[in-house]
Amino acid sequence: MADGEDNKKMADTESVSQHRDISWPVVLYSVHIHIGALFGIYYIFTEAKLLTTLFSLLLTLLAVLGATAGAHRLWAHRSYTANSTLRVILMLCQTLVLQGSIYDWVLDHRLHHKYFGTDLDPYNNKKGVLHAHFTTNLKKKHPEYARLAATIDMTDMQEDRIVIFQKRYYWLLAAVVGVLLPWNAPVEYWGEHILNSLILTCLLRSTIALHWAFLINSGIYIWGIPAGDKSYANSNLIFILTKSYWPQYHYLLPWDYQTGEYGNYGEGCTSTFIRIWAAMGWATGLRTMDTESIRNALITATDTKKPVIECLRDAENYSKTYNEKEMYLQPKLPL
Ligand SMILES: [Zn+2]
Repeated sequence: MADGEDNKKMADTESVSQHRDISWPVVLYSVHIHIGALFGIYYIFTEAKLLTTLFSLLLTLLAVLGATAGAHRLWAHRSYTANSTLRVILMLCQTLVLQGSIYDWVLDHRLHHKYFGTDLDPYNNKKGVLHAHFTTNLKKKHPEYARLAATIDMTDMQEDRIVIFQKRYYWLLAAVVGVLLPWNAPVEYWGEHILNSLILTCLLRSTIALHWAFLINSGIYIWGIPAGDKSYANSNLIFILTKSYWPQYHYLLPWDYQTGEYGNYGEGCTSTFIRIWAAMGWATGLRTMDTESIRNALITATDTKKPVIECLRDAENYSKTYNEKEMYLQPKLPL
């Protein structure tokens, strides 16, 4: 009976969750930065100084690092622990994306994981790649959002002073760190034209970084198993295929720090940076799982009929010990 009521409640929520109004200020902002970004590409080849282009590229890379190593792997999934210095750096990098505060992004992303593939998921990939990647960001939150958000545990985020500081002063930080400082530097230090600097260091940089950040939620379209292909989905084989089907692996074991946002595993800039920070002592408790542990978990699941996810959780303890022994600066950790 209780189940029936829950299901009805869920169905009601699902039916209304499809109607979200367009947020016209966000649409206008989006149109402007995209037009600006197109001008930026044109200016790179015509008017802008090379140093300004390189500076904008550096800012874009830092912004993407803030989104992947910071908001996604550190804060949303707790795949490692960072000291205060690293958290401040990552918070400032994430501010460069101009995508809203880390706190709000993590809440959205945890909601995305919890309701993955349903209408309750704000980035529901079943509605098409355009929705998951872009148009969902142009819509207002659904009235049910607050109720759903209340079901997400955000205690760890509320206890992180750096996250709360950024949330409280987000607009000030976005204006100063995200716009004024990057805009000013090329003008002041190498005599760039004020308009060129605005277009490259702010509009172009933010547009590219935003799309990279959007891919964290929509990447399953590009790197996941194609929709309708049942040969691998929901199969234990997924773990044995050397973790190559990234999105499916990520949505089952989201706390693996080696899971790249863009289809890779164990390599790429973000994983490399996390290992460097670990070697420096800034990052600790890197969580990952070796193939041996996964294989053992699958065997246990088959033998005992326990849910696979429970067996994986048990195996995680073994895996943690195993990985503590690894040298983080190896080119690539063994799978
Ligand atoms: Zn995730």
